[in-house]
Amino acid sequence: MKKDYIIDIIPLTRLPMNRQQHFSYLSRQKIPVRSLVSIPLFRRDLGGIVVNNRSDFSRMGNIRLKYVNKIIEESFLTEKQLELAQFISDYYFCPLGIVLKFFIPRRVKARNIEHGTWNANKKKIILTKEQQNAIEEISKNYLPSGGLQTKNFLLYGPSSSGKTEIVIQIIKKLKASDKNSQFLILLPEIMTAAQIIDRYLDHFSSDEIAVLHSKITKGEFYANWQKIKSGKARIIIGTRMAVLAPFQSLKLIAIEEEQDISFKQWDMNPRYDTRTVAEKLVEINQAKIVRISATPSVETYYKAINKEYKLLKLPKLSLPTANCQILDTTIIDMRKERWKQINNYSPISKLLQSEIAYALKNKLQVILFINHQGMSSFTVCIRCKSVLKCPKCDRALVYSETGTYKCLHCNYRTTILVSCSKCEGTNFKNVGLGTEKIEKEINNIFPNAKIKRADAESLKKSKEHKKLYQDFSQGKIDILIGTQMITKGWDLPQVKLVGIISADSLFNIPDFTTSEKAFQNITQAIGRTGRIRSQWSGKAIIQTFNPENFIIKNAAKANYESFYEKEIEERETLKYPPFSRLIKIVFQNINKKRTESETEIIYQSLKALSLKNIKISQPHNPLVPKIRERFRKQLIIKIINNQKITNQLERLLEKLSSDWIVDVDPISIV
Ligand SMILES: [Zn+2]
Ligand SMILES: [Zn+2]
Repeated sequence: MKKDYIIDIIPLTRLPMNRQQHFSYLSRQKIPVRSLVSIPLFRRDLGGIVVNNRSDFSRMGNIRLKYVNKIIEESFLTEKQLELAQFISDYYFCPLGIVLKFFIPRRVKARNIEHGTWNANKKKIILTKEQQNAIEEISKNYLPSGGLQTKNFLLYGPSSSGKTEIVIQIIKKLKASDKNSQFLILLPEIMTAAQIIDRYLDHFSSDEIAVLHSKITKGEFYANWQKIKSGKARIIIGTRMAVLAPFQSLKLIAIEEEQDISFKQWDMNPRYDTRTVAEKLVEINQAKIVRISATPSVETYYKAINKEYKLLKLPKLSLPTANCQILDTTIIDMRKERWKQINNYSPISKLLQSEIAYALKNKLQVILFINHQGMSSFTVCIRCKSVLKCPKCDRALVYSETGTYKCLHCNYRTTILVSCSKCEGTNFKNVGLGTEKIEKEINNIFPNAKIKRADAESLKKSKEHKKLYQDFSQGKIDILIGTQMITKGWDLPQVKLVGIISADSLFNIPDFTTSEKAFQNITQAIGRTGRIRSQWSGKAIIQTFNPENFIIKNAAKANYESFYEKEIEERETLKYPPFSRLIKIVFQNINKKRTESETEIIYQSLKALSLKNIKISQPHNPLVPKIRERFRKQLIIKIINNQKITNQLERLLEKLSSDWIVDVDPISIV
């Protein structure tokens, strides 16, 4: 009789971190490691990844094993992917089965994949000395035998300094010298994808490009995944999950807008940061990594200054063919606007109004930037002054044009007849500004302008993003009103004017990264103009009630260095990253008492470890203390000087129940 095989399999589900992550099954045939299989577990059928197979029964005793249901796909994962998954599991304290789920796209057949080019215009590029130098630096010493090679680069330069062009030239060069090489371009959000893909389609054929982001169809995603695994895809352009793809021979990773927080998966496990995972991926593949930004994250710039990354600095391009003028930025004091001289109660200042009118008259485009979507930031009851909140999330509801109030956290929406939960009053006042409110205001002032609103609500699908970009670049929109999602990356030569409606709203939430994010947001918004190739110079207007604010002043001047110097000093004093590592742990439970007692117990056991150079905050409420009917409390663990996590701390974190969220290197601690 033929002997069975014993197959060790990691089920694609959550197993407690402090236990073994695989189970043994029987199979009539040998199954290669890293195959995707179906297995019975806890009276369900689950996917699983094979990690070992053997025919040695000697030490099994009398344990009765179950049989594998079926093999779904042999050798599904690559060895490198499994190594990367293990790293993510260890680093982010996330069970391996949960991590592996993200390495397995839904297997569906693709229907008519679209390879759209809608803006292909080949321009002749003349490289500057700085650009040539950057290309040289990054593409040299590529052979493994090249000895000590620099792996990490920061390509730092203002918008329109030709950073993307440099990456394209490096890829061309390396691709020609190595016939199997692959290149990964990571993008923050799909907003910029359409345009970046266009840029690459100008230089490479669509057969060798694979696109990976959450807004393409499942079939297209799976087809592109396979195209990467077969080695047919040479250039992979995608958002954060693209870092998990089955690369065969990865040579270079370029991270566009490297400071962007959407590189961190903050809202579900594994809470990985693409930039950290990319570093591991580069190590596994002996590749290189280029971070690209006009406003690098404080941590990246710190590493570049301290020679951990090689800093390649670019000056702003002066286009020889264009009459390119210097960007003119004005800060408007809204206190004067409202109370001192002008008595203008519109959220649009007089200067901004007249600049919009001027742009419209000359057929130039305008972008207005506002931090919130909806009609307002929050709503209060006129009788008792309490804020209208979501019953499930303890978070302010936002008024929408349809007359209802909605929660931006959980899709909760009221009916048109709303009453206050405290006093049953039915009269409310909307406070603060949102995209819809500004849209209404602009419509009143400029009834003939073609206006379009762009926020998460109005742009749910990829198609809508593409259409918006097309419409705007073809001049079908005069004024675009949107949240920060429209400030990223678009290169639109016809934008004459950018208005930041309320810079102060960027400072509403006190967090260790608030200044950094505000600086980045303002600089990026301003960067959407000033690339105009005509006799008009670009203009930016920043409206604020606090014109003396250091961040606003330096962002207006695009003075990253002076922002950085002040910021790094503060981080050092307060021991925030890069001078420490943070781990945020959050407990969530429908029982309020349980939430309080559990966080106190863990706080006490963390303190009892009496770890050196590790600070632990007391249990406290996060900014949103209740989400979807669950109460939350959190602790912040601060590991000073980035020392290694001790074994004791590691064991404690691994033992936490599934009601705990462990967030390593969080993007926010409030
Ligand atoms: Zn009330
Ligand atoms: Zn809610």
